Amino acid sequence: MAEPTDTFDDFLPEALQRVSPAPLVDIGANLTHASFANDLDAVLRRARAANVHELILTGTDREHAEQAVELARRHAGLSPRLYATAGVHPHDASRWDSSLAAAMRELHRQPEVVAVGECGLDFNRNFSPPAAQERAFEAQLGLAVESGLPLFIHERDAGSRMLEMLKAWRDDISHAVVHCFTGERATLHGYLDLDLHIGLTGWLCDERRGHHLRELVGDIPTNRLMLETDCPYLLPRNLPAKLKGRRHEPALLPWIAAEIAHWRGDDEATLASATSDTSRRFFRLNASHEET
Ligand SMILES: [Zn+2]
Repeated sequence: MAEPTDTFDDFLPEALQRVSPAPLVDIGANLTHASFANDLDAVLRRARAANVHELILTGTDREHAEQAVELARRHAGLSPRLYATAGVHPHDASRWDSSLAAAMRELHRQPEVVAVGECGLDFNRNFSPPAAQERAFEAQLGLAVESGLPLFIHERDAGSRMLEMLKAWRDDISHAVVHCFTGERATLHGYLDLDLHIGLTGWLCDERRGHHLRELVGDIPTNRLMLETDCPYLLPRNLPAKLKGRRHEPALLPWIAAEIAHWRGDDEATLASATSDTSRRFFRLNASHEET
């Protein structure tokens, strides 16, 4: 995540309108962020126009997870399809206690919730002390085992500890995606060896810090790869007009897909369909839809 933007446009200039040649799934959209409060319908309409068919709304704490579920519920039967995750972000790990655990357990029973998370370890900023992060993450690994749901994991500068923890839990959890992967080759291969999934954002569109990822993205098999905006954070820097301060949104996912396809040497349509298939399978999107 980058810093939240405080100014944004409520429209998408024509130069930024790009339609994916095949339907996309955005597995990480923070649509409960305050910056979407005033024009959410337009945001969803633009996502649909860009051929982004399904959105997984990231629930980073109790409040946002409840809002994400509510949003998905209100939008049921409409396009794009909305789903939610429910977890406690490592930044907020200090707040973990038994009542929060109970609230999460209840959220995980909701048909709209397709993953436990966002949870994990962030030793880059340590907004919560590392010991508290590990405790909250461990508890949520337990909730994933209990619910059978896959995990939506956040990891920044904590690759080796994350690998150790996941190794210990791997046989008990179903699946896990390390979202917004920004790490090094050894960490990536460690995750792939554990049969984990990888979520990629527009990070590799960033010429200042995304270079190393460009050589790595080809190592991820398409049945392990999923795409996400992580909006409103991480506006991709490959947009034709550098619109400083603009809010990132799901309709811009085709720009990220195109950049990733380029560095993998893939055709855009092939990458879009393969990653969407992977996402639907991973989050059991059809199954969850049938239950509702
Ligand atoms: Zn994250």
